[in-house]
Amino acid sequence: MTTSPTVLITGGAGFIGSNLVRRALADERLRSQGARVVVYDKLTYAGSLENLRDVEGDERFTFVRGDIAERDEVREAFRRHRPTAVLNLAAESHVDRSIDGPGEFVRTNIVGTFELLEAARALFAESPGLRESFRFLHVSTDEVFGSLGPTGAFEESTPYDPSSPYSASKASADHLVRAYGRTYGLPVLVTNCSNNYGPFQFPEKLIPLMVLNAVEGRDLPIYGDGSNVRDWLHVDDHCRGILRVLESAEPGSSYNIGGNSECTNLEIVDTLCAILEEEMPDNPALAARGLQHYTDLKKFVTDRPGHDQRYAIDASRIDRDLDWQPSYAFEDGLRDTVRWYLQHRDWCETVQDESSRDRLGTA
Ligand code: NAD
Repeated sequence: MTTSPTVLITGGAGFIGSNLVRRALADERLRSQGARVVVYDKLTYAGSLENLRDVEGDERFTFVRGDIAERDEVREAFRRHRPTAVLNLAAESHVDRSIDGPGEFVRTNIVGTFELLEAARALFAESPGLRESFRFLHVSTDEVFGSLGPTGAFEESTPYDPSSPYSASKASADHLVRAYGRTYGLPVLVTNCSNNYGPFQFPEKLIPLMVLNAVEGRDLPIYGDGSNVRDWLHVDDHCRGILRVLESAEPGSSYNIGGNSECTNLEIVDTLCAILEEEMPDNPALAARGLQHYTDLKKFVTDRPGHDQRYAIDASRIDRDLDWQPSYAFEDGLRDTVRWYLQHRDWCETVQDESSRDRLGTA
């Protein structure tokens, strides 16, 4: 048994998880404590070891392939690695897929979180030495709060009102996590974050999908009239927020994490097109379609059923209690992100397949 901290990150081969692994390995406090980082990931279509290439040689890093919903696999990983902190990011995360196939969302997001909580509860009970330091941090979404009208923002006390099978499964998991805190005294933390953007995001999600489609001269599908509003946060700011909550928050507390960067989907697409006009002005794929501008690729398509109109996060609690603020200006972060996808076309080709960017979730 090791005395240094072991941070077990489920879903660490996915978008946010892999960025969090890099952040955790670079974190001064964790480094000075000699912390190890163990990724536990099933490697679904959304997870890839390609996302972790740059850390695989680090001796503080271990990868375990496993499913959070498989009790024996989870128990074995906990027995072997004895985590001092569990950061739960493993999830089915795409709303459109949850509309077509909710079962996998119930299995991973709810049953999987339950199995992790049970394993954590058992470890916590049998390890008196862990009492002070152990944390179970569950990473969730602002989508659990439902949809906002034109004004206002979600606070930590906003009642849950999820609309999609994805957000309902995340809401359910959040409730289980808090219940394990209250009932069994497990030191739990919950974070609810707004939409993330940045490197290593699977190309089914809005920003990488639009960039890659635009580069290839394919249509830019905009759901409904494009007026749905999301609050965007750079993934690295989110990861800094998660580590800040892990380090400093009181067990049992919840924090909203958001970027104060509200944008309609249409504005996002227009901004991406404007960035691409500068970053990649001569695109033969556009010319081949007889088009001059990236915006000519925009195509309004049938809306997503149950599409929430607006999300906005009030992140004042994490600012006030833990002195966390986003560091990226949205325009700069978006430009960096576009450049990253343009420079990592090989990564895009490796992680996606023929159907990755197909329209899903029309029910
Ligand atoms: P992602 O889809 O990119 O990655 C999910 C990861 O979980 C993948 O590596 C996948 O292989 C793994 N996984 C899936 N099912 C698993 C299982 N049964 N067992 C073990 N591993 C499994 O997701 P993401 O965008 O990185 O999101 C990570 C977490 O953050 C999720 O819990 C999500 O709900 C939450 N979140 C995401 C956003 C966002 O904008 N992306 C915003 C707020 C919260």
